[in-house]
Amino acid sequence: MKMTKAFMLRVLGRYAPFPAKNSNCSGYLLTAGEDNFLFDCGNGVLSNLQNYLDLSQLSALFITHHHSDHVADLIALRHAYEDLQSRGEVTSKLPVYTPPYPQDTVAELEEYPGFDIKFLAEGEDIIIEDKKISWSVTNHFLYCAAYRVEYKEKAFVYTGDNAYDNETIEDNSTADIINLSKGADLLLTEASLEEEWKKEPEKRHMSARDAASLAKEAQVKHMVISHFHPRADLRKLLRESKQIHPNTSLAVEGTSYLV
Ligand SMILES: [Zn+2]
Ligand SMILES: [Zn+2]
Repeated sequence: MKMTKAFMLRVLGRYAPFPAKNSNCSGYLLTAGEDNFLFDCGNGVLSNLQNYLDLSQLSALFITHHHSDHVADLIALRHAYEDLQSRGEVTSKLPVYTPPYPQDTVAELEEYPGFDIKFLAEGEDIIIEDKKISWSVTNHFLYCAAYRVEYKEKAFVYTGDNAYDNETIEDNSTADIINLSKGADLLLTEASLEEEWKKEPEKRHMSARDAASLAKEAQVKHMVISHFHPRADLRKLLRESKQIHPNTSLAVEGTSYLV
């Protein structure tokens, strides 16, 4: 009998814009059958990732955007991967999917011999064997991608950083992220803000209630909230989120969640 291959998320880091003590910034390992996809590579992620696999087993890296809490360990990964290449433990470059902006930053990445930089192109899905990865642009300070991975009739969505506002639901990025998240089995979403913090101008992030509203609107089955400010009261965020979308979990470093 053929076993169903795992489709599973593991949280490697959950803080922003800097890590809490003994913790990490954004990084998530998505196992889909034979593939190991890393989503973002923030502070501390490369170290934690090695608890779960040998770096030679990575299939691809997906970057949402180039804020440091999502890419701080990218240069460390570069060195680690070039080391694997020099010892013959990997024979090909690591595919790195990234927005094409900021141009100077991504141009530098193209210089690294360990990386095969693949720029996201609007309207184009990514196919990796039997997985389909689609994406949309979020509402954030930098050009940021949200990703949807479909495998074995299940769907995982990761929002990256994003502002969400029910009042401006006709806003393209909000409509796009609802569409991208539609019916997802597992939605990994940022929930950076306590509700009161949204009064500060121009946050371009979601509160737990925003995240839950997105999950409800998109009729997702299970939501994991993450990307917490180290000062945030996580129990409060979870409580606020569950009032709108009951099937919500907190991201916990080292914990895995089935898609
Ligand atoms: Zn950001
Ligand atoms: Zn961030």
